[in-house]
Amino acid sequence: MEGIDDLAQAFERFPGIGPRQAKRFVYHLLAQGAEERSRLAKLIDGIGSTVKQCAECKRFATGQGTSCFYCTDKSRDDSLLMVVEKDQDLAAIERAGMYKGRYFVLGGVLTLSGKGAIRERDLLTTIETRAAQGLSEVVLALSATSEGEHTADHLRTLLAPLRERIRLTLLGRGLATGSELEYSDAETLRGALQNRKET
Ligand SMILES: [Zn+2]
Repeated sequence: MEGIDDLAQAFERFPGIGPRQAKRFVYHLLAQGAEERSRLAKLIDGIGSTVKQCAECKRFATGQGTSCFYCTDKSRDDSLLMVVEKDQDLAAIERAGMYKGRYFVLGGVLTLSGKGAIRERDLLTTIETRAAQGLSEVVLALSATSEGEHTADHLRTLLAPLRERIRLTLLGRGLATGSELEYSDAETLRGALQNRKET
């Protein structure tokens, strides 16, 4: 059915959503009524003006200015830069409360077949800029999945020319194999950071 199918296809492009779930969303919206649909449409439409991407770490954040709270906070340690896959991983690290350096959000991981886009040019630019501000270590904090490891390999190659000046470390594998950073508890993350090793 036209209309239903069009919207279902739009939902199918969401991460982790298959065709059946997409259809469920559409029928849910139909059952909700016009007012609720209109409220949701406004929220979607407005999110671009209330939430901005930080010019430095690339996370999505609300607030004034081009750089986010973590990038402008003068009390944070400029010698450390942690590279995470996505905004939710950064939030998990912050919840664990053991890291006070800077961040960079890659925006994804590479699949084993080499698909996927990560912000590697922005990462290089950020490292160059931060190197002038005292950066001495880049911590790769990727999920302990095969895609996370594949991405870490790629970054190791990409950052190889910088290694004379900057240490490259990986989170210690206190993280169980297959575990995503986003869902790891604070204790595990703290252990993984303490046990990070040169890569
Ligand atoms: Zn930022």
